[in-house]
Amino acid sequence: MKQVWLNGRIVPEEEAKVSLFDHGLLYGDGVFEGIRFYNNKAFQLDAHLERLEQSAKAIGLTIPYSVQAFKTAVDSLIQNYPESQGYLRLVVTRGVGPLGLDPTHCKRANCFILVDQLNMLDKTLRETGVRLAISSVRKIPNECLDARVKSLNYLNLILAKMEANSVGAHEAILLNTSGFVAEGSSENIFIVNNGVLQTPPIQDGALDGITRRLILQLANRNNIAVSERSLTPYDLYNAQECFLCGTGAELIPVATVNGRRVGNSPGDLYKRIEALYQDLIVEQTD
Ligand code: PMP
Repeated sequence: MKQVWLNGRIVPEEEAKVSLFDHGLLYGDGVFEGIRFYNNKAFQLDAHLERLEQSAKAIGLTIPYSVQAFKTAVDSLIQNYPESQGYLRLVVTRGVGPLGLDPTHCKRANCFILVDQLNMLDKTLRETGVRLAISSVRKIPNECLDARVKSLNYLNLILAKMEANSVGAHEAILLNTSGFVAEGSSENIFIVNNGVLQTPPIQDGALDGITRRLILQLANRNNIAVSERSLTPYDLYNAQECFLCGTGAELIPVATVNGRRVGNSPGDLYKRIEALYQDLIVEQTD
């Protein structure tokens, strides 16, 4: 029987209930994190809890649990889970309130953590690479909702993903409203050009991804040249390598963008960084 953590208690999934008047459900008013665990240990938990706190702060949402309470909850769920690897989803909603957008009368946030497997991709695609489609759906501009807030509002990303599905692509790439590449529907993007690893700056509308940060750190530590710079579809089409990264996705090589083949997939630099990333996981979850 699956267990979840809900507002301070570990309960069987069937018994975990939240109200239909929760503003997370009614308006997508809330924030969340997706966290992987390996070898019975949450990976990058501090970074995820810090981003959760910052997302909540940015939308004026008070989280009624301490970082330590979340750490204990995460640990109990992992220890009770039958497999040593998996995925956790930590959600904080605005809580129950009267109908209407105003959160003033939502007295207490609802917090829950789910644990499950997340099988994002067929294993062979990690070897051959995925097909990307540049979506007609643009990222919501930072002036409207800062992309650093990992909010429960994923509708534009879902629409982009649906569009990718409809053209037989595995993933969508969203541009910002100025036409610069922002990110995938749930991953950040990197390319390699002239031997330099490049990724769009966060200001271009990407989530400040924890996997992205780790890749930038690994590159710096291993004398791999990196550049955070604005990218256009032209840069993707002309890339020597391209890959996606995220907690759920880990690192995924890209084979084509809008049907155009992108260099070698998987490329040499991808393979090097992927190996460094796997080593880091082992080092931090040993
Ligand atoms: N962008 C979006 C929109 C995402 O949902 C995710 C997954 N959380 C990412 C990027 C990758 O971020 P991270 O490496 O922190 O999982």
